[in-house]
Amino acid sequence: MKRKVSTHKAPVRKPAAPAAAARRSVAPASNPHSADVFEQLAVHRHEQVSYWYDPQSGYRGVIAIHNTALGPALGGTRFWDYVSDAEALNDVLRLSRGMTYKSAVAGLNLGGGKSVIIGDPSVDNKEREGIFRAHGRHVESLAGRYITAEDVNTSPRDMEWVFAETKQVVGLQGRSGDPSPVTAYGTLRATQACAKFLWGSDDIGGRTVAVQGVGHVGYHVCKLLHEAGAQLIVSDVAAERTKRAAEEFGAKVVSRDAIYGVRADVFAPCALGAVINDDTLKVLRAAIVCGAANNQLAEERHGDALQRRGIVYAPDYVTNAGGLINVNAEIEDWSLEQSHRKAGEIYDTVLRVLEIAREQGIPSYRAADRLAEQRVKEAERSRGLPHRI
Ligand code: NAD
Repeated sequence: MKRKVSTHKAPVRKPAAPAAAARRSVAPASNPHSADVFEQLAVHRHEQVSYWYDPQSGYRGVIAIHNTALGPALGGTRFWDYVSDAEALNDVLRLSRGMTYKSAVAGLNLGGGKSVIIGDPSVDNKEREGIFRAHGRHVESLAGRYITAEDVNTSPRDMEWVFAETKQVVGLQGRSGDPSPVTAYGTLRATQACAKFLWGSDDIGGRTVAVQGVGHVGYHVCKLLHEAGAQLIVSDVAAERTKRAAEEFGAKVVSRDAIYGVRADVFAPCALGAVINDDTLKVLRAAIVCGAANNQLAEERHGDALQRRGIVYAPDYVTNAGGLINVNAEIEDWSLEQSHRKAGEIYDTVLRVLEIAREQGIPSYRAADRLAEQRVKEAERSRGLPHRI
């Protein structure tokens, strides 16, 4: 098995409300002292949660496996100073579920999982080694059902310590490398799919794209859009990055707040989450929202608002799956060319999502969820597994 990832942060949008009564009926009676863990597992149909404590290093870790119908559950390790164990559980459940959807819609043979380490992430290297080795033993105890990677506050270096205890880790130093070029390529293909859906042609030559954030992914997105003939407007809080985009791609630079309201065909969020919200919707003029950032919708209702306004939205976790595809290359032993080919399929997936949304009269973020669920259900059926999703 080969390695590396930035699973780049699974979608964390709150899932559609489950049929609460139906789901609750499958939950075991809750124990008043249990923090309702099983109740929570039942709500979003998680398979497993594992807790591990290591007295020597002080490691306290939680691994959540949401679904393994399509393959081993893959998802990064987040190191965070949660205020309570309940908050950590909530986060790991939400994030692991998101990974199931992201992998499924990207057509990968992976399930959804995630892990969190509870504690101060600024601990020094001496303490880190003990913590991440303990985490590696925790991962190893799951016997291949879960594969980890770096995530928020963890690095490829930390994953080396994990690797000392288990082979079930991707994102090691010197393996699949920076996922940003593959993510950017997937984002370009998603943009072209939106153009095809809306304007009947995927030629974006002459179209104007407003790119928010020209960091790792944003820079490569600009490069590809420029090569495809698009005009660029960019913003970033780091002036040297916008300067580079202006010099290399002739991008027009605007201020941080101005990017939402510029006259552009496409708004491409490539910086941070929750950028589609009550305030930005008031000024947004683009016909398409398609970018690499995670969790672009502040709340689901903002996705509904995009639909009502006729703005074509390429769901973030479909668009930015290139990061996950890049990591999957380590597992499948893919060449960079094969990863690009897989990321290119994002074009067809986005088109399919937009068509489902139109046919069923639903917002595109919901259509993406349905497509993901359909694939997991088929795997469950063909493997004779009980339906969980
Ligand atoms: P990055 O930190 O390299 O780039 C983010 C850029 O956004 C930086 O240049 C930063 O200065 C800028 N920025 C921050 N706040 C801003 C603001 N208010 N307005 C404008 N610019 C702002 O991160 P990245 O790896 O390029 O990732 C960007 C987004 O894409 C994140 O949401 C990330 O989770 C998501 N993503 C990245 C990958 C990947 O392969 N790198 C994969 C999937 C998803």
